[in-house]
Amino acid sequence: MIKEYTSGKTYICKLKHGDDLLESIHAICKEKDITMGSVQAIGALQALNIAYYEQNEKKYYEKAFNSHYEILALIGNISLKDGSPICHAHIVAGDADGAAFGGHLVKGCVVFACELIISELKGPALSRGLDAITGLPLWDDA
Ligand code: ZN
Repeated sequence: MIKEYTSGKTYICKLKHGDDLLESIHAICKEKDITMGSVQAIGALQALNIAYYEQNEKKYYEKAFNSHYEILALIGNISLKDGSPICHAHIVAGDADGAAFGGHLVKGCVVFACELIISELKGPALSRGLDAITGLPLWDDA
């Protein structure tokens, strides 16, 4: 599947200290009515929570890291699930020693400071539905 889009608005966002990273992204998407787009961010976290998808079990396992981290890279996309914008993002976070941890972004990442850029895409909004092979909510092919 390949779809074509054109660039829409670009949003530069300074997230609030103490807010949940993923929930903040979702709130911005709802406020600005962004249904398709790409996301990138750098910054720092007061707590890190990521998930890993165990392919054999078709199940996500969450792992919480209770220290302070740099957001070395966050990259993701925005589309629709159940009619609402949803951000699918992966994050790499570094600790005081420079060691990096990464995974699927889930709720529980507490913002220390975060500079987020959302690039809106104009075109048909993709919706996520359950993919039987992977067990993941992948983009519908229609
Ligand atoms: Zn993922």
